Amino acid sequence: MKTFGTLIAAFGRQYEVRTDAGEILLCVPRGKKSLFACGDRVQVAATGPGQGVIDKLVERSSLLYRSDAWRQKLIAANATQVVMVVATEPSFSDEFVSRCLCAAESQHLKVLIVLNKTDIPAGLADARSRLASFVKLGYPVLELSALDNVDALRSRLVGETSLLVGQSGMGKSTLTNALIPEARAETREISEVLDTGKHTTTFARLYPLPEGGGLIDSPGMQTFGLVHLDNEALESSFREFRPYAGQCRFRDCRHDAEPGCALRGAAERGEIEERRLRQFLQFRAECENGRRQAQGW
Ligand code: ZN
Repeated sequence: MKTFGTLIAAFGRQYEVRTDAGEILLCVPRGKKSLFACGDRVQVAATGPGQGVIDKLVERSSLLYRSDAWRQKLIAANATQVVMVVATEPSFSDEFVSRCLCAAESQHLKVLIVLNKTDIPAGLADARSRLASFVKLGYPVLELSALDNVDALRSRLVGETSLLVGQSGMGKSTLTNALIPEARAETREISEVLDTGKHTTTFARLYPLPEGGGLIDSPGMQTFGLVHLDNEALESSFREFRPYAGQCRFRDCRHDAEPGCALRGAAERGEIEERRLRQFLQFRAECENGRRQAQGW
């Protein structure tokens, strides 16, 4: 019997699918390639009690992934919002934040930055001042302490499918457990099923929210490669660059040392941040290198 469902967890080549009738099936893809992500809508066929195969993928409204020259890692499908968790300590990376923003912007997703661990006052002023430049770009920042109260965040998740991302150590799992009390228990159950013990947090999982919408918790990460973004997509994923698109003297301007570069001019006048322009050039070099390596140049 064929039925539709939502892929709610991805671990290795196995996927957990919640059918629209509410049944949970542990599925494998019919073909050899597993190109599915948490959040995907799929057509499945049950093959036994609690088991099935994935026959078909329903077209995605968005797909977030990270990539380097050799590998693309699907993070989440059909998300509508990226919730990026940073903390007062350990210190977070501005560059990582910019990378996440690029990934989200390239898929036209809403972004919410959560500054966690505000109960640790030592790093608070520094974190705020480093987030100020993102606030200036129009990205909302919500301050909270996941140990204390997450209600302010809860109300921002209603009706959205939110992907929770963050570097390791930012308190993302504390946040997930505060939002979804059964998350901790579910993680344990799955680890028993798979008999993997300590590898329990290395897969993404979609949790339905009681208020409507869902939350996709992704594994903590240290890098966020953007090799899948071509130069044009990368440039427009820096939202403050968009008004200057097509304004450079040369149509093929690399925004590097060319005369009459609109972005350089904007940076010199302080209209955009020099640091963000440097990050763009760095990400672009990395993407171009990655694509060259992938093609074996
Ligand atoms: Zn230029």
